[in-house]
Amino acid sequence: MTPEELKEIICEKAYDLGANIVRSAPVKRWEEFPIQKPEFWPQNIWPWVKNVIVIGIPLYSPMISTTPSMVYQELYDTSNRVLDDIAYRLTNYITTKLGYKAVFFPRDCYYSIDVLLKNPNAAFSHVMAGYYAGVGTIGDSHNLITKEYGPRLRIVSVLTDAPISADEMIEKNLCIHCKKCLRNCPSQCFKENGDSLFIMDKMACTEYHVKIKNENHWPCGVCIDVCPVGEDLKAYRGTKTITKEGIKHCQSFGS
Ligand code: SF4
Ligand code: SF4
Repeated sequence: MTPEELKEIICEKAYDLGANIVRSAPVKRWEEFPIQKPEFWPQNIWPWVKNVIVIGIPLYSPMISTTPSMVYQELYDTSNRVLDDIAYRLTNYITTKLGYKAVFFPRDCYYSIDVLLKNPNAAFSHVMAGYYAGVGTIGDSHNLITKEYGPRLRIVSVLTDAPISADEMIEKNLCIHCKKCLRNCPSQCFKENGDSLFIMDKMACTEYHVKIKNENHWPCGVCIDVCPVGEDLKAYRGTKTITKEGIKHCQSFGS
């Protein structure tokens, strides 16, 4: 079987399991275009890995626009659950049916938000994996910006030794540098940085998350709500994604 044929079989399985986007990157890209320190590279976390398969599903814009809210919290939690479920089943398929090694790096893989107060970085970055696999480019907000869904795409990564073909990385930056994320961030954690990504005070973002978690509606997500990039917004252009009346009604029922 060729790398292209094997890739197609794995992609079809992932789409059957509910993925909207499936792309892959060889691990050598972490070395060729180094952004993070080597200890964050997949090959240094799991030495058998040759390719990283990135799986994405969308977050729905009208639901994000209620943030912070129970509606968004449930959407966020559901997307994590669905992604981990797809990644589990795809890993099962690759290992038991195709006979290759595979593991998945789960979604929010930290014990509690308090851990992030000590170190607000992830052990493995799905955003970087999405960038190397050609799912999107990294925007000024440090989110992965995609053509299809802007930053409103949740992703998970499957690490495998299966010899599959790779997708091209996206060369043109999809961020249009509109600064909406910077202006609207409730923790004001972004600072301009010339032509580079905004400097991000991750601790300020984390502390804001602790605050809204204590108020029982988190995560924040304002920076992904306001980003104007993404074909998913076409259906709502020129309209509001939620009305004041709708918000008032849901709030009166605890949502
Ligand atoms: S999640 Fe909220 S607090 Fe954090 S960077 Fe985005 S807008 Fe700012
Ligand atoms: S809101 Fe504007 S500046 Fe921020 S990531 Fe999106 S396109 Fe880039």
